Amino acid sequence: MCGIVGGIAERNVVPVLLEGLRRLEYRGYDSSGITVLDENQNLKRIRAIGKIKNLQEKIEQTDELLTGRLAIAHTRWATHGKPSENNAHPHISCDRVAVVHNGIIENYQELKTQQQEQGYLFESETDTEVIAHAIHSHLTANNDVLAAVQLAILEFEGAYAIGVTCKDDPNTLVAARKGSPLVIGIGIGEHFIASDVSALLPVTQQFIFLEDGDIARITREEVNIF
Ligand code: GLU
Repeated sequence: MCGIVGGIAERNVVPVLLEGLRRLEYRGYDSSGITVLDENQNLKRIRAIGKIKNLQEKIEQTDELLTGRLAIAHTRWATHGKPSENNAHPHISCDRVAVVHNGIIENYQELKTQQQEQGYLFESETDTEVIAHAIHSHLTANNDVLAAVQLAILEFEGAYAIGVTCKDDPNTLVAARKGSPLVIGIGIGEHFIASDVSALLPVTQQFIFLEDGDIARITREEVNIF
């Protein structure tokens, strides 16, 4: 069991996500990481092995302040690939799509072979990285991240809760689940996702519990579940 936290807001969500990760520590983990979409629309990622405080220290040591109104964060419990910074989530495809994942993609080896044939380069030993590349491969000219996730998940066998952000769409956070828990926290003009409600209690007491097979398009103003 690992932890997912994500958010889309008018304010900088990094402190909310770090507090959320701390609140999910009880679930167990070996590493952690965060990706924000910054104001120049670049995906910025920081990951660290061990405790959340190591991630916090790395964030504090970066030259530029890590801030963003759209971000996803993760505590990892390795199932595929050793605990390491490279294997820590979020995983990013082609600088465009960032993914956090809880669960196991059982057919990842088959998907990885296909994706390598398509030219995708792998930076980790995880099963999760195929999720990022699959979503990237389904992004069409109009960069519809929801549509790309809807097509990508048809390829996956196994269990997942995922949070997805895309460089081309600063207004959308996509979440999906099958077999692993995920909740959406409803704020005022802001929304969050997490593996369980405890992560989000400092920011909201109102939740939507995603059911198996649900995909959510989450903006600051709206949540649409498909
Ligand atoms: N299977 C993924 C990995 O090994 C996710 C593990 C988790 O749920 O933390 O990276």
